[in-house]
Amino acid sequence: MIPKDHPRYTSLVTREHLAECARKGIVSWEGLTSHGRGEAFDYLLGEKTSKSARRAERTAAALLRAASRPVISVNGNTAALAAREIALLQKACGAKVEVNLFHRTPERVQQIETLLRDAGADVFSGEAERLLPLSHDRAFCRRDGMYAADVVLVPLEDGDRCEVLVGMGKKVIAIDLNPLSRTAKKATLTIVDEVIRALPVITDACMSLTDEECRGLVAALDNPAFLKEARDEMAARLCHALD
Ligand code: ATP
Repeated sequence: MIPKDHPRYTSLVTREHLAECARKGIVSWEGLTSHGRGEAFDYLLGEKTSKSARRAERTAAALLRAASRPVISVNGNTAALAAREIALLQKACGAKVEVNLFHRTPERVQQIETLLRDAGADVFSGEAERLLPLSHDRAFCRRDGMYAADVVLVPLEDGDRCEVLVGMGKKVIAIDLNPLSRTAKKATLTIVDEVIRALPVITDACMSLTDEECRGLVAALDNPAFLKEARDEMAARLCHALD
């Protein structure tokens, strides 16, 4: 039982939920470690969406709106944390939702797809093929899904696949609290924010941005600048103990 007045209530409830999802097999045990790394970086951000991240989220919406074949790639952690937010974003931008896992088994894929469907997502499933040039199981995707996508949103990604997707000519939007990760550096656009906070901002922007605003945001996209702003924000908090 986590007392409601505990100062870390939300974080503890989230951890408990992820641990429960790990026991069910939705989240991999290794996924719990990734969450811990994310939490550490979120501390440095003050556990809130920075101005720069908000602009990155609006830019992500602009990229998704401009895409012809957008895909949202979902792993176990993302499904456990934000299945409903994924479903709402899908409704707002018309992207396909496809499960892609490092620790892949048919049972896990099915469990995660069911979780997403129960949350209201229309999951693009069916036979996955080893189509990406990777030696691990993130290589599996669907020919008419991720393989054919022009824009891919990859929350909580690993660097290898991000690099491969960019190498295939796709625009890759990453959500990653670690601005130093390989993913953050390789993506077309990196949102340095917590996934549960980031997704609703992208969804709102998909619905509210004008076409002109979208064009302006895409034209101004400068990922190294977004990463520098995130690092500066974290450094300032470390050096000056900001609230
Ligand atoms: P890379 O190969 O890109 O260097 P990595 O080895 O850090 O990445 P993973 O262990 O797969 O990759 O971790 C995924 C990333 O997701 C981590 O950098 C972590 O900071 C981030 N992350 C974890 N939980 C969240 C969350 N809830 N919201 C946003 N980012 C998160």
